This record gives sequence, C-alpha cells and structure tokens, in this order.
Amino acid sequence: MELTDGKYQIQGLNVEEIADTFGTPLYVYDADKIQAQYDRLKAAFSGEHVKIKYACKSLSNLSVLKLLKKMGSELDCVSIQEVKLGLTAGFTPSQILYTPNCVSFQEIEEAVKLGVTINLDNISLLEQFGNTFNHTVPVCIRLNPHIMAGGNKKISTGHADSKFGISIYQMAHIERVVKTYNIQVEGLHMHTGSDILDAEVFLRGAEILFDAARHFNDLRFIDFGSGFKVAYKENDITTDIEDLGEKLTAAFKEFCKSYGKPLEMWFEPGKFLVSEAGVFLTRTNVVKTTPATVFAGVDSGLNHLIRPMMYDAYHEILNVSKTAGTKRVYTVVGYICETDTFGLDRPMHEIKEGDILAFKNAGAYAFSMASNYNSRLRPAEVLVYQGQAHLVREREEFEDLLKHQVALDFK
Ligand SMILES: *Cc1c(COP(=O)(O)O)cnc(C)c1O
Repeated sequence: MELTDGKYQIQGLNVEEIADTFGTPLYVYDADKIQAQYDRLKAAFSGEHVKIKYACKSLSNLSVLKLLKKMGSELDCVSIQEVKLGLTAGFTPSQILYTPNCVSFQEIEEAVKLGVTINLDNISLLEQFGNTFNHTVPVCIRLNPHIMAGGNKKISTGHADSKFGISIYQMAHIERVVKTYNIQVEGLHMHTGSDILDAEVFLRGAEILFDAARHFNDLRFIDFGSGFKVAYKENDITTDIEDLGEKLTAAFKEFCKSYGKPLEMWFEPGKFLVSEAGVFLTRTNVVKTTPATVFAGVDSGLNHLIRPMMYDAYHEILNVSKTAGTKRVYTVVGYICETDTFGLDRPMHEIKEGDILAFKNAGAYAFSMASNYNSRLRPAEVLVYQGQAHLVREREEFEDLLKHQVALDFK
C-alpha cells in the first residue's frame, strides 16, 4: 500500500474505493508484494537445491495458495485439513510437507495415505510409525536444537520448555528407534519459531542440524524452517535475508561436501512471504472522547485480528480517508465485548466517524486466526492481482452462524 497523490493505493487501485466496493471489514492482499518477497528469498538462497515450502497456516486462502504454487513455491502444512487444502489448490503430494504436533497417529496414517512428506516431532510417534510402516515410508524428523528465537517466548519454539520437536539431547534414543524398525530417515527439520533476529542464531541451529545429520546416511534434505522477521514498525530490526542466504549457503555447501552428496535445502516461510502483502480495512463506527483519551472504535475486533491482543503485536494503523493535516492521538479499539485494543496512543490524521482505518502487516496470522466470537461474521478477502481486485472469500452471512448448530426443541 503506497501513498500517491494523497491517496493510499495498491497496484494503482484506490484503497478507499476497494473498501467501498467490497465493504468492511476487509482483508486485502497485494499479489505483487508476495511475488517480490518470494523473489527476494529465491535470490538470497540461490542454490539449485533450494525449496520454499510456504507455511500456509499464516494465510490459507485457496487463491493465495494457488498464487504461491504458480510462483514455484511448495507447501508446509500443520494439520490434515491444511494438507487437503493444499491438494485442493493443486499442489502434488510430493510438494507438501506435513509438520504436525500432538496429533493422533490416525491423522498421520491419513497423511501417509495422501502421499505427503511426513515430519515427526515425537519419539513415541516415531516408534508407532516404524512399527506400522518399517522401511516402506520415509520420514523427516523434527529436532529441537534448543536455541531461542527472538525474545518472545510466545512465538519461540526452540527453547528448552518448548513442546515442539525431539530434543537434540535425545539423539541416541532416536537412533535406537530408527535402527530397531529400519526407518528410512529422509530429512531433518528445525523450526525455532517466529522472529529470528540475526543470521548467527540460524547458523547455530544449522550447525546443530549438520551434526545430527551425520547420524543418518540416506538424507535427501535438511529443512531449516522459518522465523524470518519482517518489519512491523518503522526502524524495526528485520532478518537480513541476503546476509543469511550467503552465510547459510556457504555452510550448507561445506556440510554437503563432508556428507558426501548434495542435499536439498528447504525453508518454510509464512510471515516473510505474506505479512506485508496484507492490509486489513475497517470503518470507524465511533469516535469517543473520555476523560483519559480519544477512542476510535472500528467495525472489527479481536475476532478478526487477534495478534495485538495475543502477542502484543504492533500493527501500524493509518487513516486512509484522511492523509493530511494535523495529527491527534487515538486509541484504536474494536467492537467486541472484551478489551480489544488494536493500538494505544497512536498519532493519526484526524479521524471522523465513517473513516477507513487500515492495519498494515495483516497478511500473516490475521484472517487465518479469525473467529466468530460475539457471533460476529468473518470478513471478506480480496486479492489484488495484475492491477485488479478479486474477491477471494465471501463475507460470512448470518446463516453461516447457524450452520452445524443443532437447536433442540424444548416442549
Ligand atoms: C508456523 C510455522 C512456520 C512459519 O513461521 P513464520 O514465522 O510465519 O515464517 C514454519 N514452519 C513451521 C513448522 C511452522 O509451524
């Protein structure tokens, strides 16, 4: 979204007009921005054996999945439903990596039947897997290297208390299980969580994976997960993807030489690909002055964008309807009967009731975490592709709330 001639635009389309055409609240995604991020990642990791597995939990709209497929991306799925969405979008089973945690063995069997790559993060599941499939179905193992990503424990998955992965200290146990059942280990995986600040943390994790990899002879790939940080605020520190690309590629090449064959290098970016491509458009219902502050209350809430409340995430908020003049300080809140503060003390161009407020970085973990809380309806989604705005998800209707409910008749 750019400010051109006093109007916010996406690919030359006026954002306010998009809001008028499709209504609010509305998620809008810019396909060009997704493409630019994809290209940047491809350029940073330019080796021929690099695979990008888009982490579709960040934004799982079918049209977005199809767009990423067209770009050449593959897919990382964390549930059997995401696997089925991926297949529906046209990904082949071999392009899909299934990385569940704490799921039933039945779900894993279902994924095996669908033919996708299986990534296990629990020794007891590995045992059951070996017991059921022996050598017939290859598997990837998710390791916990016990490094801490960023500073936020809520989004870090690699630390000691984390439920994710099999601890690197359980290597001997993994090896026994693999040997006992003659399991074919085709990949090793780590994903230390969102918001990796520098290449050094990543490289430390990589070195741990390389050491682990020497325990297995038939690897096909090493999956470095994701955690690439993007800017939410001006001057935010972000992952220097080019620097990381250069250093990790060099380390990987070195490792492959000593391993004796070239392996594939996999990544699973979610946020990096789609976060900045999304804006969330809301309309101001009320401007409310209290003794303490001025609230701008919009036609949405934590039911549509929970990241500020759940992760203390900062989303920049802009008044799309007024882009000049003096700024005043607002606290932007939602209409849910909870404290759902989107932004505290934000200097913004003067807000009038009816103005469109846009939330930036609303591509990742935004719509995909939306709910029907307060019996509110989920918003529509629009994808701007080749200069045109396409509706890619209809706004929910009241009937959707009744669907699957069984209303008893009390005589
Ligand atoms: C969520 C997730 C990702 C994506 O993380 P981002 O921070 O959005 O890039 C990658 N891999 C796995 C296994 C995940 O659970």
